Amino acid sequence: MGPLAPVGNLGKIALSHPESAMAQAYDPNNIFAKILRGEAPCVKVFEDETALAFMDIMPRGEGHVVVVPKIAARNILDIGPGDLARFMPAVQKVAMAAKQGLNAEGVKIEQYNESASGQTVFHLHFHILPRWTGVELRPPGGPIVAAEALRPVAEKIRAAIGA
Ligand code: AMP
Repeated sequence: MGPLAPVGNLGKIALSHPESAMAQAYDPNNIFAKILRGEAPCVKVFEDETALAFMDIMPRGEGHVVVVPKIAARNILDIGPGDLARFMPAVQKVAMAAKQGLNAEGVKIEQYNESASGQTVFHLHFHILPRWTGVELRPPGGPIVAAEALRPVAEKIRAAIGA
């Protein structure tokens, strides 16, 4: 199992786990790969050598963040287990910070694999969804929220990561 790929190589590297019988082709032009390469904007929440976390542009609730690995994996079906293990602490870190920074009562983590499951962006990602009793999540594909409105929320989560 090789190390996690540098962001700049996302368009060139082999799949994380190419021997997987379930693997479908990774498209390096997906929007999250573009964000990882700095070719598309995002409202950043957290970054380390394994992961980038940013605000979901169509949030299903207050504080909806997506956490993506810095490796060319389409979803959980084709990432190598070692790469997945190195990446998952970032998911935990952002989930804890989102709950704390937004004073949420709970936090839901969702992750989809292939279209039939609801996946629309084919770069592995985990949805971090802070939850409050009696507050329903909106359905996916809702209205796009401007970066200016997402930034103050991201700042609260970032502050909790730094705390
Ligand atoms: P999924 O259905 O699990 O593939 O979710 C993809 C998520 O990516 C959705 O929640 C979208 O709102 C979100 N999304 C799509 N484009 C962007 C973008 N440019 N920046 C941030 N989030 C995005």
